[in-house]
Amino acid sequence: MGLEEKLPSGVLLTTVEQVVGYMRKSSLWPATFGLACCAIEMMASGGPRYDLGRFGMEVFRASPRQADLMVVAGRVSQKMAPVLRQIYDQMPNPKWVLSMGVCASSGGMFNNYAIVQGVDHVVPVDIYLPGCPPRPEMLMDAILKLHRQIQHEKLGANREAQVEEREQIALTALPTSAMKGLLR
Ligand code: SF4
Repeated sequence: MGLEEKLPSGVLLTTVEQVVGYMRKSSLWPATFGLACCAIEMMASGGPRYDLGRFGMEVFRASPRQADLMVVAGRVSQKMAPVLRQIYDQMPNPKWVLSMGVCASSGGMFNNYAIVQGVDHVVPVDIYLPGCPPRPEMLMDAILKLHRQIQHEKLGANREAQVEEREQIALTALPTSAMKGLLR
């Protein structure tokens, strides 16, 4: 039974935002790069056992200009941060960032001067994935949650304002290394 048999009189009403969201979420292409051990799990997700290809995203792009999803897989060193930001800037809009693992999200166990205490200090993050390392199943779950987010995203100027606001909040956030109290 096809979709048309389930619709009354074969008519389907929707909004442009919904259609665009559906198309965008169904063709996410991640950029090819990994930073540390989390990247091994990310690579496993693309293999035959987990098969990210089921979601239309088996093609990890070698050029950021052809990618719209940045999976930050692993800790980000201070030295790597500007490079990561450059890759992000080279990706065409609209684009999304998935922070994979505790190191990328908050610096993790590396609470020191060499590691960025959360990649949201460098790029706006759309979804955080906990774990050390997160298993491929967890990565796929995060991607499916991101799909849901993309499906309901706003369009045009509204989306740009949303991204800018998130970026400003992240840039003014206190780094974990500067926090006092129970962390130390
Ligand atoms: S979260 Fe764990 S597996 Fe991932 S980069 Fe950090 S130490 Fe490695």
